[in-house]
Amino acid sequence: MNISKRAAAIPPSSTLAITAKVREMKARGADVIGFGAGEPDFTTPAVICDAAIDALHDGQTHYAPTPGTPAAREAVAAKLREENGIDCTADHITINNGAKFTVYLALQALVDPGDEVVLPTPAWVSYKPMIELAGGTLVELPAVAAADFKITPAQLEAAITPRTRVFLLNSPSNPCGTMYTPDELRGLVAVLERHEHVTVVSDEIYEQLVYGDEPALSVGSIDSMRDRTVTINGLSKTFAMTGWRIGYACAPGGGGAVIKAINTMQSQMTSSITSFTMPAVEAALTDGRAEVEGMRRTFAGRAELIHGLIRQWEGVVCPRPMGAFYIFPDISCTFGRVTPGGVVIESALNFASALLDEVGVAVVPGNDFLGPGPRHVRMSFAISEEQIAEGCGRVREWLGKLTGNAAPASNPA
Ligand code: PMP
Ligand code: GLU
Repeated sequence: MNISKRAAAIPPSSTLAITAKVREMKARGADVIGFGAGEPDFTTPAVICDAAIDALHDGQTHYAPTPGTPAAREAVAAKLREENGIDCTADHITINNGAKFTVYLALQALVDPGDEVVLPTPAWVSYKPMIELAGGTLVELPAVAAADFKITPAQLEAAITPRTRVFLLNSPSNPCGTMYTPDELRGLVAVLERHEHVTVVSDEIYEQLVYGDEPALSVGSIDSMRDRTVTINGLSKTFAMTGWRIGYACAPGGGGAVIKAINTMQSQMTSSITSFTMPAVEAALTDGRAEVEGMRRTFAGRAELIHGLIRQWEGVVCPRPMGAFYIFPDISCTFGRVTPGGVVIESALNFASALLDEVGVAVVPGNDFLGPGPRHVRMSFAISEEQIAEGCGRVREWLGKLTGNAAPASNPA
């Protein structure tokens, strides 16, 4: 049987692949510390689970409205108004099967073949395949660790052409763990204000998990951007609900055209999210909010811990995590050196596989995150402090046993 060119061109998600590999190794009894999984290690707050269980027993087991129930959409709109300052109503909201699918649908709604999508990199592994599935042309804007993985307004200005359809922004960032301050974001917005043909797709899935003094700023809350921003978020990360598959988009502009297009596609693809989770959306965004601060604080403590431990790795450069639950060290100082198991490290790919084989520590090689990614590995700190300390200790000891000279440094991408 022939597979379509479109399907054959898409690589599998490397983040999910590492997570699956660690799960399988653990099931076999292997001693692995997994820094791979991009999901909170907490359980979903009980108040949210109860809402779904009650709905199930109440018989809410039939097809639901495609965009989400009016009550669930109103809960999302109220959250975006109150927490993010976005001027919106329930009519501007669509609820989809995970924010991953929301990003996919938004790009399908906005991008025609040949349209350019400007993406700061390193960026989440799934954006490139999604842009390509929409027929878009990826325009990468690489940012380096020394710049905290942030692009400048001048870089953005230089990347925008008459063909630019979308600027895809993810702050706080997966995989970098850094975020734009409100002032930095306003600097980018000043550029976007000069290019009215560009729509911003702002993936704010980590917006509640921030560790600095300032909250994350939503692009869609800035008046000049409200009508050409698609704000994407979901329940997975904030409420430890990755398995529930609930994401959403808010797009008040153009008479709700983007929301309508997404709903039309969703009506032909999945119909709606699982009906008895709609009351759980309401519960999460009302009563569930109280539990978020405890999880955020725990992540903040882990961010501090892992950053301090990685800074002890000689030659490794690593910005401090300011949001999300990832850290993205530059391990290129090891390239050309030989591991205790006899592997010559050539890239993040064989760094990560040797580390897993030789000391049982799983990290995601940075390659699929693009930009300078091949010089980096991503480590998720959604694991206990004990595991973080044990895993980082194993890496430090292993690094101390590398032999041979480092390859001459190449310029960061
Ligand atoms: N955006 C980013 C940047 C992510 O890291 C993830 C994690 N999977 C998602 C979107 C999608 O999350 P979900 O589909 O679980 O809502
Ligand atoms: N977003 C998470 C990660 O980057 C979950 C896996 C995925 O969807 O990519 O690890």
